[in-house]
Order: sequence, then structure tokens, then C-alpha cells
Amino acid sequence: MTDSDINPNEWVACESCDLMVRLPELREREESECARCGQVLERSQPDSLRRTLALSIASLLLFVVAQTTVFMSFELDGLVQDAWILTGIRALFLDGKWALASLILFTAVVAPLLWILSLLYIVVPLRAGRTPPRIASAMRFCALAKNWSMLEVFLLGVLVTYVKLTGVAKLGIGPGALSFAALMLVSTLAGVSFDARLVWGLVWDRSGARS
Ligand SMILES: [Zn+2]
Repeated sequence: MTDSDINPNEWVACESCDLMVRLPELREREESECARCGQVLERSQPDSLRRTLALSIASLLLFVVAQTTVFMSFELDGLVQDAWILTGIRALFLDGKWALASLILFTAVVAPLLWILSLLYIVVPLRAGRTPPRIASAMRFCALAKNWSMLEVFLLGVLVTYVKLTGVAKLGIGPGALSFAALMLVSTLAGVSFDARLVWGLVWDRSGARS
């Protein structure tokens, strides 16, 4: 066996005991465990590419609806005011709370969008039988954007605000808020379906087939 025959994607270090383990091919609903400590190393993701593609497209649509429709409405003394996600962020900017506004803008809007787009950038060409250009950078970028995407933290903040304001004003939940909650669930499922090892395996096979 030469170095070029060894697929580095097949080897992982156990997160629990650092044993280097060669991962076996998994069939549907199978998982591999560390031989020394029993830590689960990998679970099979059936139909990973197709599911990730469908869930990423759904996430993108939900993202657009969440950003462009009314998130919440407030009624106080007969006066009704609608609020979008960006309305709240803009108010924080105008209020001089730059750091908080930038953090919310990045973690609840920019990073989730970049994450969904990078998933599509990787999965669409692979489904069509091609390897996307600069796949290694795209995979790193995708993981980074996923780490910074904090939809659940934003939603938790909204829930706290909602509870606090219910005694003061009459609040209405808009389609934007419902889409945002659905986006959180669907994008989480997209992340679970995305199988990085499968992607690297496909890229490895195709680069091997070309040479
Ligand atoms: Zn182990």
C-alpha cells in the first residue's frame, strides 16, 4: 500500500480516548464505536445529500420569509406598530448600541444566511455529479458559519421580551416569527443531515478517478 492509497478521511481520532480508528463503511442506521472506550464515532446519515439539499432550500425560503414579513406587532393605546427583524436591529444601532446590534445582525442574520448558502454551494454540484471549486475552503467556511449561526439564542431573547411585554402592550406574532422558528428547526435538521465524511469521500473518489 502506498501513501496515495490511504484515504485520510477514513481515519479519525476518538474524541474520548484519542485512539486512531479506521472507520468502516456504514449501512443505513448503523453506527461505529471506538473499540477501546465505546464512544460513538459516527452515525450513518441515510440519503444525506438529497435530504441536505431539500432542507437547505427550505431553510433559504424560510429565511427570506422571516426577514421580509412582519415579525411581531405591538398595540398600545389603540396604536399598532409592526416590527421586522431588521427593525429591532436598526433601533439598537440608532440607540448607539453598536456592539449588541452588530452581534445580533451577525449571529441571527448574516451567519445563518452564509451557512445555508455554503451548504447549497457544496451540495448542489455534488448532487449533479461535480466537485465544487475550492471545496476545502468551502467546507471550512461552512463549519465556521454554522458555529456563528445562533438562531436559537435570538429566538430565546424574543421569547423573554415577549413575556416581559405582554403586561404592557398587546402583542401579535407575525408570519416572520413563525418562519423564523421553522427556520431554526429546518436548518438544524439540514445540519444533522449534512455528512462531512460522505462529502470528503465523494471528493476523494472523484479526485482519484481523475488521476
Ligand atoms: Zn475511544
